[in-house]
Amino acid sequence: MSNTPESVLVGSLQKFSVEDGPGIRTTVFMKGCPLSCKWCHNPELIDPQQQLIKSPNNCIGCGYCVKICPQGAVTMNLEEGVVIDRSKCDVCLKCEDECYAQALRPVAKPMTIDEILCIAEQDKGFYDNTEGGITVSGGEILMHAEFVSKLIDEAGKRGINVCMDTSGFGDSQALMKMALMENVTDILYDMKSIDDEVHREYTGVSNQLIIGNLRRLAANARTVDKLIMRMPLIKGVNDSDDIIKRTGELYREIGVKRVNLLPYHSLGISKKRNVGGTQEEFEQPTEERLTEIEFYFKNEINLKVEILGRV
Ligand code: SF4
Ligand code: SF4
Repeated sequence: MSNTPESVLVGSLQKFSVEDGPGIRTTVFMKGCPLSCKWCHNPELIDPQQQLIKSPNNCIGCGYCVKICPQGAVTMNLEEGVVIDRSKCDVCLKCEDECYAQALRPVAKPMTIDEILCIAEQDKGFYDNTEGGITVSGGEILMHAEFVSKLIDEAGKRGINVCMDTSGFGDSQALMKMALMENVTDILYDMKSIDDEVHREYTGVSNQLIIGNLRRLAANARTVDKLIMRMPLIKGVNDSDDIIKRTGELYREIGVKRVNLLPYHSLGISKKRNVGGTQEEFEQPTEERLTEIEFYFKNEINLKVEILGRV
């Protein structure tokens, strides 16, 4: 099961989000991303295909999943509980049906535009009172460009504004087309590292396309003010003076006005384990370092700065 022109795999629809753009929002997390950031906090959304995810705390150890699995992919042991052999699992989801404790489930469910908007519309009153709306996020929305464009268009017909959350790693024309749509009010644009070597090492791709797309958005009078730069900050990876200064100089040159700082957190580690794999643990910059970075962007580059996502 994967994404189609009529539906995308949605990991979750998060209602009452307050850190995914202005006001109160419903954030739509779509599955599939061309990057593989080593600190990703939604690693279950990287693979565009459906996957089985475990919730070990729900497991009551009944062993039905071991008996029912047609592929013989499930075993149990005292140390780890239920173990899925991902090389055998074909994601038939029969174990989900048998697991009454809801310890096994698909990562995402396929949703059409109408299904997404029917749920999002329930909170339209909150959007209208807070200048909120829907945020389309992932994963990476540019992997579903046609679907997301139609979703934005249909949201507009229903009087709902949209915020785009993107890594910028995707088709430039599709990105610009979405960004120019009237009801797109804000664009959360990731800047993981301005240093291409660091970017390649920690995300798996070069930042050249990302910076090129950012420059295009910033050069257009109808999109530049929609930009809110988002910077995950990981100690020893992308918080050096050199990286921060070069980033600030780029922002000044292209005229962006807002930045969100997102200090690292380790919530991705257990999700990665539950979907099959391991994730390295990093550290957050110290409070003192965060304050220095905030001060620099505010006072030297003249940006509006918010620090978000503290856990
Ligand atoms: S069926 Fe569910 S509750 Fe029972 S052992 Fe398997 S995962 Fe655990
Ligand atoms: S999804 Fe199907 S193949 Fe995979 S572990 Fe469950 S029952 Fe077995």
